Amino acid sequence: MPPLKRPDASIPVVLPPRRALHAARTDVLVVGGGPAGLGAALGAAWAGAKVILVERYGFLGGNATAALVMPLMSFHTQRAAITRGTTRLLPNDHGPGEPIIAGALLRFLERLVRNGGAIPPSLDTGFVVPFDPEIFKWTAIEMLDEAGVEFLFHAFASGVRGDGQVEGVVFETKSGPIVIEAGVTVDCTGDADVAAQAGCSFEVGREPDGLVQPMTLMFRVADFRHSPFYEYVRTHGDQWRGVHGLWELVQKATQAGELNLFREDILFFDTMHSNEVAVNSVRVMRVLGTDVWDLSYAEYQGRRQVRQIIAFLRKHVPGFEESYVMQTGSQIGVRETRRIAGEYRLTADDLLKARKFEDGIARGSYPLDIHNPAGKGTELKHLPPGEWYDIPLRALLPQHVERLLVAGRSISGTHEAHSSYRIMPICMATGHAAGVAAALAVRSGRAIRDVPASQVQAELRRQGASVG
Ligand SMILES: Cc1cc2nc3c(=O)[nH]c(=O)nc-3n(C[C@H](O)[C@H](O)[C@H](O)COP(=O)(O)OP(=O)(O)OC[C@H]3O[C@@H](n4cnc5c(N)ncnc54)[C@H](O)[C@@H]3O)c2cc1C
Repeated sequence: MPPLKRPDASIPVVLPPRRALHAARTDVLVVGGGPAGLGAALGAAWAGAKVILVERYGFLGGNATAALVMPLMSFHTQRAAITRGTTRLLPNDHGPGEPIIAGALLRFLERLVRNGGAIPPSLDTGFVVPFDPEIFKWTAIEMLDEAGVEFLFHAFASGVRGDGQVEGVVFETKSGPIVIEAGVTVDCTGDADVAAQAGCSFEVGREPDGLVQPMTLMFRVADFRHSPFYEYVRTHGDQWRGVHGLWELVQKATQAGELNLFREDILFFDTMHSNEVAVNSVRVMRVLGTDVWDLSYAEYQGRRQVRQIIAFLRKHVPGFEESYVMQTGSQIGVRETRRIAGEYRLTADDLLKARKFEDGIARGSYPLDIHNPAGKGTELKHLPPGEWYDIPLRALLPQHVERLLVAGRSISGTHEAHSSYRIMPICMATGHAAGVAAALAVRSGRAIRDVPASQVQAELRRQGASVG
């Protein structure tokens, strides 16, 4: 049975007024517990604020855990080139790049590694960070717990209180609707859900047609054997490039009617466990992650593609004969939805020219990486070697709405710029900065836009971040 269809006509249903329970009041409310939310909660708590983090699922990590998005992409300057014949990204002759993000990300990674949940970035990992999603979940709880952050799980932000400013957020829960009031709210939902409810303007998709990057249901494949795969790659040198390839096999299987994918290749990454890979080859296009009908259709299509892909791998690809799908994401991975209209809108030009800003509060070096919203292919554009771009505080500040900051993948920028700053390390860095800015605003009793960026930068530096 296919998923429920979108209704033909939009017929509003009037609901009776309802009451909500006043659950708490806090200095800083962080909505969403993904990479940005973790950074925000840690940054605000380390700056001395009372912090509550609210998450719709029963665990933290966002895409990293809920959607099994792996690995954490490189946060080093781009000197890495894709080398043929391995399942890793390896740096080329220029040597390794420099890390450009520290602060909350680094402290989190150090703890994750210490807990046995990640391999530190190195030449050997191609400077990405393979991690274990279950250890990620408990490491996140451990760190927020130590920082004194209070949590509420299973609570979905559905509305805001306040006019022109966010005084509090309404959450739907099993206990009925509740309200949490806050001095400043940091929207880390990835979809700018709180900002949209507060009336902030936003953009969606690329300029000509509003299409967003495709969704991907990620899955972990166990009992993969490296040796036969490497042997195949060695003897078919033009059929594998770093982390993707198998063009000929995909083409044959497509012609035989065994595969019907919106990709011309298979993309997968080594995980931190030997004999396991994370497959990133599903592609569901023309769907939006803020639309319940699209999401249902995407989950339905995504799972059908997973079934095809694993059958293909087992039948045709050496090393996968005995492999099996050990886990799919709890939800399909959503790359792109709303991008707020902020006080500054980052552009591809800013990124590719490695622009620096006086109010720079986070850095990025990852290339522009656009999975074709309308068909096959992926477009990659690199920054100049050894360079990074700044993200200004203004890109986190929504226009016309007070007491609200937005961090993570829904900050203000174009579709092209978003394709770079959407990766998890950069999202954690913008989260970290938003948390610090929120804490300083509450502590000083000022509006966020009146807090000097230099003070946010100074506190970020005190917390170990690389800024300015
Ligand atoms: C298929 C795919 C592959 C990717 N590959 C990589 C990769 O290899 N490496 C990399 O670094 N990045 C990758 N990315 C990008 C990266 O995963 C995301 O852009 C990043 O996780 C965004 O972080 P975030 O914190 O802004 O949002 P999310 O990670 O989406 O976190 C948002 C959190 O908010 C919660 N939430 C959402 N709405 C509400 C609400 N209304 N109320 C309460 N809670 C809510 C969610 O449950 C979630 O926990 C990939 C993305 C996708 C989809």
